Amino acid sequence: MSSFTDELSDSNDAYVKSFDAHGVPGRAGIHLLLLTCMDSRIVPHDIFGLKVGDMKVIRNAGGQLNPEVEQDIVLGSYLLDCDNIVIMPHTRCAMSSLSVLDVKSTLEELSGLDFSAFEPRMIENAEEKLKRDVAKLQANPLLKNGAEVRGAIYDVDTGKVNWVC
Ligand SMILES: [Zn+2]
Repeated sequence: MSSFTDELSDSNDAYVKSFDAHGVPGRAGIHLLLLTCMDSRIVPHDIFGLKVGDMKVIRNAGGQLNPEVEQDIVLGSYLLDCDNIVIMPHTRCAMSSLSVLDVKSTLEELSGLDFSAFEPRMIENAEEKLKRDVAKLQANPLLKNGAEVRGAIYDVDTGKVNWVC
């Protein structure tokens, strides 16, 4: 193993020693599913004061709805007791700070590879995109009847969750 995994294993050993989540059910304890960004400044359970087993979390670049995520959420609404769904992008997200063209040229410069067919889902206007994603999910006819979808933007400088819709 590499020193990289050695360090992670040491940290995990400490976690295992204090592990107390035995028997926690796989369903979402407070019926909540969060879709958010992969940004390292977001620690989802801490933000809402939750514990192991309380919430399902789906993460990607930007905390954006896409067909694959949408299917996961539909699945979660039925099989994992996720009756409340929150889509939560955040302030100062890299996905809203660059255009697709800028990203492609940056990646090409860094790698020397051809990124012409690479299509990252950059965000032009975070609030508008969030409202569109929430509306799209709310309109999904396959989502469990009664499941509520809300949208919020997380402020990485204050920790505040600002509800948008
Ligand atoms: Zn982000």
